Amino acid sequence: MAEFADQILVVTGAFTLAGLLALLAAVRRGAVPIRQQIERLQDRLFEIADSEERYRSLIEAQGDLIVRETSDRTMAYANETYRRMAGADAGMPAGQVPRLTVLERTEPVVRPDGSRLTDEKVATADGERWISWVETVVMDREGRSESLRVGRDVTERVRAAAALEEARQRAEAANDAKSQFLAMVSHEVRTPLNGILGMAGLLESTALTAEQKTYVSAVASSGQALLSLIDEILDFSRIEAGRLDLVAARFDLHQLVEGVVELLAPRAQGKGIEIAASVALGVPQFVVGDRDRLRQVLVNLAGNAVKFTHSGGVGIRLSRGTAGFVDIEVADTGPGIPHEKLDSIFERFERVDGSPSVAVEGTGLGLAISRRIVERMQGRIGVESRLGRGSTFTISLPLPDADHATLPPARPDLGHRRALIVSRSPFEAPFLMSRLEEAGGIAERVASVAAAERCLAARAYDLLIADCALGDAATKRLAAAARQHGVDRTLVLLSPFERRDFGPPQAAGFDGYLVKPIRPRSLFARLSDAAPAAAQPAAEPAPGAGLAPAAFHVLVAEDNDINALLVTRMIEKLGGSADRVANGHDAVSRLGARGRSRYDLALLDIRMPGLDGMAAARAVRAREHDRGLMPVRLVAVTANVSPADREAAMAAGFDDFLPKPLDPAALQALIRALPHRKRRRAAARRAAGAP
Ligand code: ADP
Repeated sequence: MAEFADQILVVTGAFTLAGLLALLAAVRRGAVPIRQQIERLQDRLFEIADSEERYRSLIEAQGDLIVRETSDRTMAYANETYRRMAGADAGMPAGQVPRLTVLERTEPVVRPDGSRLTDEKVATADGERWISWVETVVMDREGRSESLRVGRDVTERVRAAAALEEARQRAEAANDAKSQFLAMVSHEVRTPLNGILGMAGLLESTALTAEQKTYVSAVASSGQALLSLIDEILDFSRIEAGRLDLVAARFDLHQLVEGVVELLAPRAQGKGIEIAASVALGVPQFVVGDRDRLRQVLVNLAGNAVKFTHSGGVGIRLSRGTAGFVDIEVADTGPGIPHEKLDSIFERFERVDGSPSVAVEGTGLGLAISRRIVERMQGRIGVESRLGRGSTFTISLPLPDADHATLPPARPDLGHRRALIVSRSPFEAPFLMSRLEEAGGIAERVASVAAAERCLAARAYDLLIADCALGDAATKRLAAAARQHGVDRTLVLLSPFERRDFGPPQAAGFDGYLVKPIRPRSLFARLSDAAPAAAQPAAEPAPGAGLAPAAFHVLVAEDNDINALLVTRMIEKLGGSADRVANGHDAVSRLGARGRSRYDLALLDIRMPGLDGMAAARAVRAREHDRGLMPVRLVAVTANVSPADREAAMAAGFDDFLPKPLDPAALQALIRALPHRKRRRAAARRAAGAP
């Protein structure tokens, strides 16, 4: 048996053999007496036989498969393990040992030492097994090259890996199914919710008693809360499923922050707290990034801060970080977060109190979503907090400067003019100070009238800004003191609510006012005003206000009766008229019935029985193309509002996209932008003799 073992023994027993040869040489030289020499030789031979036996059994006892093949693929040696697996009879000569049948084989990998690694699935006497082979080339006794293959049974490892892969695929499929289910459910929930919210909106504009108004607004606000809940759950499941596609586009970062503050200001001021923003010098105005997702994160952080804070306020501060990063801080003077909860609040469904049914509404998903968005943007998010003092959330994001501007935007030069700010405001006042200082002014802040009077008596000031929150009488006293000490300009700081009650600032002794949250533009405009008391620019008129009725005709394709009624009423309220169809086929035939469409606009629901909105749009466009018709304005109406849905709608031939539930203001903006309305207005202006 085991010629291979013989060969190995030649090598492994080399030291023993060397000893024997040395002994023989000594015998030849006559250095050792003959008897003694024979005894020693016998001992040596015995040692060799013994070690040969030990090595032989070592090789045979190997769990690994060992085979040696000649260059013509004749098997020269197979160890016990191979023989057992191949089902060879005991004592069978190596040349007759059957080969294992290979069922599958991986691509061989050649290692730097020339050996080859392959995995094979083989049919054995014990069933299918995976063997991982290492193949090397060795020389036989005559110096011919032979292949030596050592294989290890890795079946268990391969099976475990396959089971793991299968489990992963199953989990992914389940996750996909979950996301699809959520998307479907959210669509199904949004549709009736659209009806509820829309009808509540219509009801609100009818004659109602005060009691009825309360009920209707409760319906509307509960519906709105439900809608944001659905949006958050859907958004989170999308992000979890890895479907968070970020865009990289140029946007105005300063305007974004200002917009977030203005969005949340009514809510904050409504509960008697302030919200303010400050952008440090050197933060680029135009950056490259995903504006909408950043807005979502900021609205969530600042929205939480407003939600949990009951006195003081919320401040958003932007500063320039290192290497193209922008640092954003959202600080509040709220209740703070216990130390042990600082990490877990970023987990989904985590709330500090742990109970979902507390006075403050929320899902516990906002921070989990924010963290995922920030991390996808390669940024960092963290929080520091002190109980009873407040919390500060910090985000650090790579937002490259879109214009590579090295110079900060021009700001007016206050040329060392000295300003005194009298305010207890935790954010607006310090932000105001740094703005004045960045513009070259010298600013001081005090928190009481008495302290302000001491300052005014001690040195000359060019500007006094008094916070109306100190109280009516106090602000008036300050205005009088400032005048008495010859202060050049006096401004009063007001919230929009205070603005209504305060009356003209001049009556209270001020030159003008600033409305919180203060826009940098308004501040500097107020400081450089020739006529002091100029007001801040008026806000956009409220949706629905002052729209001149003009005839326009809309086709509404919507299968849900309530939604159809709702849209029709909205259109009528905006001064138009509507025809309604309930499926895509009817929409296509109405839109192509004449040479020129009699509709100014067609609102097509994407999900309709029969021909859906997408197919209808494609059919309308194809027919317009074939017959050389003027294209009608097609607007997709759908609850699926992801960028991918929008893209798909545009690709199908839609001009625009309106999310459900339909927002009257969005519909109005769309109608205002209709080309024929522009023409009509221009004609009206011409008739009135305007340029
Ligand atoms: P929620 O929808 O409950 O606000 P979030 O994920 O946005 O969910 O926040 C998780 C929890 O973290 C909140 O329920 C609240 O307990 C805590 N939290 C978040 N922001 C603040 C904050 N500014 N001040 C105090 N607690 C906060």
